[in-house]
Amino acid sequence: MPESATMSKNGMITKIHTRIRTDPFTANYELVGKELGRGKFAVVKKCIEKSTGKQYAAKFLRLRRKGADCRTDILNEIAVLESAKTNPYVVALHEVYETSHDIILVLECAAGGEIFNQCVADNDEAFTEQDVIRLAKQILNGVAFLHRNNVVHLDLKPQNILLTCARPLGDIRIVDFGLSRRMDNITEVREILGTPEYVAPEILNYEPISTATDMWSIGVLIYFMLTGDSPFLGDNKQVTFLNISQVNIDYSEDTFEGISSLAIDFIKSVLVKDPRMRATAEECLNHPWLNPHPHPHPHSHPHLHSRSDSSLDEQETSQSESEPES
Ligand code: ADP
Ligand code: MG
Repeated sequence: MPESATMSKNGMITKIHTRIRTDPFTANYELVGKELGRGKFAVVKKCIEKSTGKQYAAKFLRLRRKGADCRTDILNEIAVLESAKTNPYVVALHEVYETSHDIILVLECAAGGEIFNQCVADNDEAFTEQDVIRLAKQILNGVAFLHRNNVVHLDLKPQNILLTCARPLGDIRIVDFGLSRRMDNITEVREILGTPEYVAPEILNYEPISTATDMWSIGVLIYFMLTGDSPFLGDNKQVTFLNISQVNIDYSEDTFEGISSLAIDFIKSVLVKDPRMRATAEECLNHPWLNPHPHPHPHSHPHLHSRSDSSLDEQETSQSESEPES
C-alpha cells in the first residue's frame, strides 16, 4: 500500500513527504565509531555522508518486531519529525533509507549525548541551576511547538533529550518520536506506555492522554536535572507507580540544597495529579523561574502573560508560531 493511502489510526500519522530511498545506505554513508546509543527497538550509529563529509546519526529501526509489522509506527515517527522540522530543538531528519530488514533514519547528530549523563555526573560536570534554566527553556520551546501542532511526545525522559555538545555545554535536541501521537485521533491508550519513572498518573489509570501528560514528564525531567534524583523511583515498579499515583515527592531542603525556591515552585506547577490543573508548556515558559526580570504587566496575570526578556527567545517563539501543522 502506498504511504499516502495509509489510514491514520490511534493517533498515528502515516502520511509522509520524505522519499524513502532504496539504494544502498552504505553506498552513501560510512559508519564510523561505535554506537551512539540504543533503545528498545533501535540502534543508533554515527555515520559520515560520503558526498559532503558531514556527520549524522543513523537510527536503524527494525521493520518487524516480535513478528509484527512495524511500518506504521516508523512512518508515524518520520511524520512527526517532518511536522517539527522548523523547530530548532527537535532533531532534524536528513534522509530515510529502507533495506530488507530496517528503515534507517539519517538524523542530525547530537554529539553531546544524553542529558542523562550530566544529570548523574559529579559536581564539576553536573548542571548548574543556570544551565538547567537555559536548557529547560529550549526543551519547553520544542514541546510547546509540538503541542501547538497537536502532537504529544509521550516519552520525554533524559535518555531522549540530547545535547549538541557536552563541553562547552551546547543546546538541546529532542529525539525519539516512537511513541508520539496526534492528539486529535487517539482512541486507545492501553498500549502506549512510556518509561515507569516518567509516566503520568493518568497513564497508570488508563485515563485520557493529553498534552498535559508530557508536562508531567517535564516536571520529572527538571527535578532530575536539578537534583540528580529521580523523584518517583522506588525499589520496584509497584513502589514507583504508588509514588506516582500518590504524588509522593521529596521537596526537602536536603535534596534541594543550593537550588532556588522558584525552581521548586516551577516543578510543583507541573507535578500536579489532575492533568487539567497542570501548567502548560506556554505557561511554563512564562514562569518567573525562567524569567528572572519580567517586565511589569499591570493588567495581566504575571505567570500567564509576562514575556521573556531575551529577544532570542521572542524570535524563536514567533518563528515557530508561524508554522502550524496541517
Ligand atoms: P529508541 O526509540 O529505541 O529509544 P532513540 O531514538 O531514543 O531510540 O535512540 C536511542 C539512543 O540513541 C538515544 O537515547 C541516544 O543515546 C542515541 N541517539 C538517538 N538519536 C541520536 C542523535 N540524533 N544523535 C546522537 N545520538 C542519538
Ligand atoms: Mg529512546
